Amino acid sequence: MSALLEVQHITKVFGGGLFSRSSTVALENFSLAIASEPPTITAVVGESGSGKTTLARILLGLETPTEGQVLYQGKDLQGLSTAEWHSFRRDVQVVFQDPFEVYNPFYKVDHVLNAPIARFGLANSRPERQKLIEEALEAVGLRPENTLGRRPHQLSGGQRQRIMVARALLMRPRLIVADEPVSMIDASLRATVLGNLRQLNEEFGISVIYITHDLTTAYQISENIIVMYSGSVAEAGDIGLVVKQPQHPYTQLLIGSVPQPDPDRRWNTEAATGSSTVAADGSACCKFVARCPHAMPKCAEDMPPLYQTDPHRLAACYLHEESPALQAEEMASVFVGRGQAGS
Ligand code: SF4
Repeated sequence: MSALLEVQHITKVFGGGLFSRSSTVALENFSLAIASEPPTITAVVGESGSGKTTLARILLGLETPTEGQVLYQGKDLQGLSTAEWHSFRRDVQVVFQDPFEVYNPFYKVDHVLNAPIARFGLANSRPERQKLIEEALEAVGLRPENTLGRRPHQLSGGQRQRIMVARALLMRPRLIVADEPVSMIDASLRATVLGNLRQLNEEFGISVIYITHDLTTAYQISENIIVMYSGSVAEAGDIGLVVKQPQHPYTQLLIGSVPQPDPDRRWNTEAATGSSTVAADGSACCKFVARCPHAMPKCAEDMPPLYQTDPHRLAACYLHEESPALQAEEMASVFVGRGQAGS
């Protein structure tokens, strides 16, 4: 299965070197692959400081990994030609966390919709441009006559975020990276914005990477999940399998800490941030070893690979070492698309 966007064994260190006391290891040996087809919604879930936002910036080409590669249609982002980079910029869109930051208060909201059309030459005439904008707004449930011509302060946070989803849709992308898209808007409007993302996936065939701290909304809209712990994948695969029968001790702890659906509830586990767990000989080991009730001597000696424990699930834990270890480039094959779950 070919991947649209793939990160292979990426590590991102801010500050000194990997084992320097002054450095922060935001991501370590992290891999992820989003298949070209079928379109999927994949949640990347982690606590504050787990490396989610760094991952989003790397996926968008806004940050360069210290080690490892980001591949777009099999090509390293670093080596893309100008034309390929233009294509990447159109194919991979973003919806950021803060729907207020993007708007210039002096411009009408039309500006954020007109800008990408002009930049990418999406329309040849003013009527064509207007039609594109109106279709995109209507697709996310906004009435153009009530939206265009207004200033940012005249719209709610939810409306502003839906305009950002419409803006992403204008480009007819193949992938949207949504970084905590509903964490700064009212709880009553979150379902609408999440519904828009789901709709883009179902009606327009756009894959979504939904980055969140919130397991409940991840479960509501995603088919696949990647659970991150301190910058690495703990468990990944079909969200029904992972949430209902977690196999990694960290995922088990997380699921146990969310006894009822509550979008405002944050996980009550402590974040393990800012440093890599390092074995006595200097090599990286399982990051969860200090807190794991099942820790074995080997867990402190080497970092476990991702074991494929069933066709649609991976767990980075030696408890599952009887299963085959998976290569990063094979990861996309584990994720399910719409209607595939259980196949
Ligand atoms: Fe626990 Fe070892 Fe599994 Fe890490 S590899 S989660 S320490 S059992």
